[in-house]
This record gives sequence, structure tokens and C-alpha cells, in this order.
Amino acid sequence: MATHKTRMLIIGSGPAGLSAAIYGARAMMEPIVVQGLQPGGQLTITTDVENYPGFRDVVQGPWLMQEMQAQAEHVGTRMMWDTIVRVDLEGGSPFRAYGDSGDIYEGDTLVIATGAQAKWLGVPGEMELGGKGVSACATCDGFFYRGKKVAVIGGGNTAVEEALYLTNHSDDVTLIHRRDSLRAERILQDRLFNHPKITVLWNQVVEGFEGDPLAGGLTHLSLKDRVTGQLSKFHCDGAFVAIGHAPSTELFKGQLPVDEGGYLIVEPGTPKTAIPGVFACGDVMDHTYRQAVTAAGTGCMAALDAERFVSGLSIDLHGHAEAAEAAE
Ligand code: NDP
Repeated sequence: MATHKTRMLIIGSGPAGLSAAIYGARAMMEPIVVQGLQPGGQLTITTDVENYPGFRDVVQGPWLMQEMQAQAEHVGTRMMWDTIVRVDLEGGSPFRAYGDSGDIYEGDTLVIATGAQAKWLGVPGEMELGGKGVSACATCDGFFYRGKKVAVIGGGNTAVEEALYLTNHSDDVTLIHRRDSLRAERILQDRLFNHPKITVLWNQVVEGFEGDPLAGGLTHLSLKDRVTGQLSKFHCDGAFVAIGHAPSTELFKGQLPVDEGGYLIVEPGTPKTAIPGVFACGDVMDHTYRQAVTAAGTGCMAALDAERFVSGLSIDLHGHAEAAEAAE
């Protein structure tokens, strides 16, 4: 059991945490990143990334995260293979975080970049058949459904991307959505509707997953038509739940304010939480944009503000605005 001290402790190793680390290391903050249960974050369970600036060709999510980590380490970040199980923010800086390993991490500043996790429908059979036909990650599990019939539930970018991805393995992919229009980006919708292997079922609510977890796994989904009320069975070998994400804020319950969706509340336009010296960046505080590039951007902001906090400086955005107005 050891205690690790740093000027900047970062919890989470997705684009937000690693961008904070790159900026923090270059500012001589000697950051420590505690990687958590999913090192590299959500991009490690995605495939093609076409919208991260700087790459003309498609890059792979896991590769992009390896590169970010290599860059963070190259400039002086210490990466820890540990998961924080408790934090103590009372009493202000330095902040303490306790690792699953038994190690303690102490940071003059704390950058929270714990991200978000896939949501589940919460209907019968979902948990029992998890890993036995029901999954929340096509990139992780799609391979197991080679040549089989699969369904994706949801209507956002994730659901459409998962359906498109699954066509690499299956010739029979059905997207099941609870409404009659998708919220996914237009370009993705066009690809989906034009794909010969994909069918869309509209206005269908999944009421349950049926099958025997011990023998054969998932056999069908129980559906209810939202418009007609008609019940039906949809037979498939695999079902992928892709209905969005919930922020990972469990660690901070009762210590930092969260909004109704559970996202950490920050001072608008900044990564500052209610506690001076504690900053939040990426999906854990952003329910609107949730992109790798916006996570990286807020990670950079958190590091800049952490550096200012350690130096005893503060940025007063309003003061700055007033000064600018006065100068006009
Ligand atoms: P979204 O919140 O955008 O979409 C969730 C979808 O799931 C919606 O269609 C919603 O239906 C549906 N849904 C939610 N709850 C339920 C439920 N209980 N039962 C049935 N359906 C449900 O989440 P995503 O994960 O798709 O995307 C999150 C963010 O990440 C977005 O900002 C997205 O743009 C971004 N993203 C970007 C990517 C890219 O640029 N390449 C890739 C993946 C994500 P309804 O529409 O009726 O509300």
C-alpha cells in the first residue's frame, strides 16, 4: 500500500482525462492518471472514428486512445492501473482518492474525467441474458453473431453505428426504435436506410428479453407497438441495447452537486465544480455534446484551470468580460 502525491490527480483515462494529462504534464504538474475499469474509455469499445480532427482516413477508437496515452506518458504523465473506489473532497485541497489496490492518491487539484456508461432498458430478461444474447456493445460482441440474426435497440447515433457495424458480421440486422423517426445524424441515417442488410422497425417498445440463459440464450424479444398497442415476438439470436449513456458520478454522490440526469454541475463555460480545485471534464459533465473532441477540449480547460489553481491564480470570466467591454 502506497500513497502517491501529485499536483494534479486525474480520475479517468478517456479523451478528457488524457488531454488534461497532456496539458498538465507540459505545465510541470506531474499528473497522475488513475485509469479505471475501462482504460481509454468509451472509444475503446468503438471502431471507426471519422470525426476526430487530424486524420483524413478513418482511424480506430482503440488505436486513437493508445496514441493519446502514449503522448500523455511521453510528456511525463504517470498512468496507474487502478480504480478509485472512494474520494474524500471534504476539507479542500489536497484531495484524497482511494484505489481498489489499497493505494492512496493525493492531488493538490483533482480532475474528474470518469465519463459515462451505457444505459440499459431495465426490462425482464435483460440482465439474466446479458452475455447470452443481450449486449450493450456491438464492437465487443458482434463477432459472436456471425451469420446470425441480430437486433439493435435505439434511435441515436450509437444505435445506427452499431447496426451498421453489425452488417460486417450479420446479413440480417434490424433496428428497433420506440418512435417513428431517428435522432441520429443525417449522414448516418442515410447510410442506414440505404443498407441492404438493415431493416427498421418503428414504434416498437421492447418489453422483455426471452430465452433460457442456461440453454441457448436469447430466443426473442417481446415487443409492443406504441401506436396500435399490438404485442408481438421478434425472434433473433442477439440484441444490442444502444439507448444512450449515464454519467459515472457514483463516487461523488453527496460531495458534489449533480443535475437531474446525474451529470456533475460545473460553472457555465468552465470545468469548475462547486469545490475550488476540483474540475470536471468530458462526458461526466456534458450531456449535450458528448464527443471525443469536446471531451478533449474540456480536458484541456480543466488542466489550464488546475494549473492556475495551483499557482494561486484565478480566472474571473465575468471580470474579464467587463474589462473587455470597458475597453470598447
Ligand atoms: P442518444 O441519447 O443520442 O440516443 C438514445 C436513443 O435511445 C434515442 O433514440 C432514444 O429514443 C432511445 N432510448 C432512450 N431510452 C430508451 C428506452 N428506455 N427505450 C427505448 N429507447 C430508448 O444516445 P447515443 O448513445 O446514441 O448518443 C449519445 C451522444 O453521443 C450523442 O450526442 C451522439 O451524437 C454522440 N455520438 C456520436 C457519434 C459520432 O459522432 N460518430 C457516435 C455515437 C454517439 P428517443 O429518440 O425516442 O428519445
